[in-house]
Amino acid sequence: SIPLGFFGGIGGASKKGILVKGSNYLEALNDVKYVVFDKTGTLTKGVFKVTRIVPEASYTKEQLLLYAALAEAHSAHPIALSIRKAYGHSIDQTRIKKYQEIAGQGISVHIDDCHVLAGNEKLMRSHQLSVPPVHEMGTLVYIAINHTFAGYLLISDEIKEDAKEAILALKKLGIKKVMMLTGDAKHVALAVGKRLGLDEVHAELLPHQKVEQLDQLFAQKSSKEKLIFVGDGINDTPVLARADIGIAMGGLGSDAAIEAADVVIMTDEPSKIATGLALAKRTRRIVY
Ligand code: ADP
Ligand code: MG
Repeated sequence: SIPLGFFGGIGGASKKGILVKGSNYLEALNDVKYVVFDKTGTLTKGVFKVTRIVPEASYTKEQLLLYAALAEAHSAHPIALSIRKAYGHSIDQTRIKKYQEIAGQGISVHIDDCHVLAGNEKLMRSHQLSVPPVHEMGTLVYIAINHTFAGYLLISDEIKEDAKEAILALKKLGIKKVMMLTGDAKHVALAVGKRLGLDEVHAELLPHQKVEQLDQLFAQKSSKEKLIFVGDGINDTPVLARADIGIAMGGLGSDAAIEAADVVIMTDEPSKIATGLALAKRTRRIVY
């Protein structure tokens, strides 16, 4: 049987926008010692804006943006939405063939008779393409047309207003390690990590590599110490499932992630993690 106090705890959490899918998760929140965050959509807003378009000499900015928008026509990734928004016109779907989205990398597609790649350095490297080094703050989407580098778009995201206080609150609650795992580039990840005071940052990870990072943590810690993963769910379903407690952002998150998660933060605020931990402690005091 479930002690009645847990229902109070779950009800209290839901009033704060924290949906706990069972009293066992509320109880497990008491023993959390490791908190692992995804970056995009979780610690950052996941609302991207195209801030620069830098074509190679053989293309204009308009042409590069058009190719990027066509390549991203079918993707639900926040990066894709920002590119389509920057393009601003409707897209001729009949020009798009052999569309392929590669999680954590980008898009490979045929547009008219051209093969187009749109994505990060990893995507380019996997097609034996090298890209010039770019030192700009933001996510770069490189474009290659017919196996030749054609330019890049710079896309900027913002850190959520409560992200810094969210990390601070977790440390005050005695969390041993607050980590961030991201598929984004190293320089972006390190800048965010420094701004937020994170203990550890791992970048350029594919979804399965995020799971491997959790496995490493599981190997180091005692089984009594619980581990949370917090993600917006785009590509994060496997890692949400691997954590002791998987927490999804409910507003931005995908349906699959909300389904896979044990706890859902309806307001998308990372500071609600500490709120949930504190509430779990209060509930335990009431129940026992
Ligand atoms: P995160 O772990 O930060 O949430 P993702 O795993 O969703 O990021 O994506 C990791 C990286 O893969 C992105 O930063 C981007 O460089 C690249 N990427 C993923 N999807 C796309 C796409 N549709 N178009 C371009 N690049 C993409
Ligand atoms: Mg994400």
